[in-house]
Amino acid sequence: MIVDFHTHTFPDKVAPKAIGKLAVISGITPYTDGTVADTLVSQGKTGVDVCVCLNIATAPGQEHTINNTAAAICEEHKGHLVAFGSVHPESPNALEELERIKELGLPGVKLHPDYQNFMVDESRMDPIYDALAQLEIPTVFHSGWDCYSPDKVHCPPVLAAKVAKRHPKLKMILAHFGGLRRWEDVLDYVAGIPNVYMDTAMAATYELSYELAGKILAKHPLENILLGSDCPWEDPTKSIAWVEGLPVSDDQKEAILGSNAMRLLGL
Ligand SMILES: [Zn+2]
Repeated sequence: MIVDFHTHTFPDKVAPKAIGKLAVISGITPYTDGTVADTLVSQGKTGVDVCVCLNIATAPGQEHTINNTAAAICEEHKGHLVAFGSVHPESPNALEELERIKELGLPGVKLHPDYQNFMVDESRMDPIYDALAQLEIPTVFHSGWDCYSPDKVHCPPVLAAKVAKRHPKLKMILAHFGGLRRWEDVLDYVAGIPNVYMDTAMAATYELSYELAGKILAKHPLENILLGSDCPWEDPTKSIAWVEGLPVSDDQKEAILGSNAMRLLGL
């Protein structure tokens, strides 16, 4: 069973514009056209059984529609795609929306500190983190460097570690192996914190060395490591091959490719 914990899809109507814009910002040629249909085709080609589609409310007020769409995707593609919900921290009803996310049955939430303009350790985020922990909603954070905000990292490993320790019941999935292009800091500050999960998205593209990855994994619970591709920004075939090269046992590789995610998602 292979689960890709980090993919992005967009509603058909907005996909061309959204993907076009992000392709320019990132300088990366997308691997899909961003639609659910094309993501399912790519999933078929790469041997991924279940895709986790991460949605982000980039403005307050978007979350209601995004979460309803996510619920519809989960229902329509049961067993193949699951979609996470989102809230914008500046939305006046963010806390109520988290309760609605739980009622809708969405398996998790994604927050993007760079796109949503907050520092991960800001105290105004604490009520949201408390609610996520209390509702037992696993939460993905974009972590480390981002091409959208290249000069200011909104979720550096040192601050993500502070939040994880302040909210020990919050399951924090720090995308991009704990912090894109900040991996020395992941080793120093994040590795070993039990409520932190990490996905492998973009580790291959940005060339996280197996030596450093091995040091991080030696300190961190291996059951908290999840395959991610960031598809359409990395070909999942490349992400899977990268995991297969990690300096861990075959059983552990299998767990990273699928069963760790299945357990976290309660599938
Ligand atoms: Zn992503």
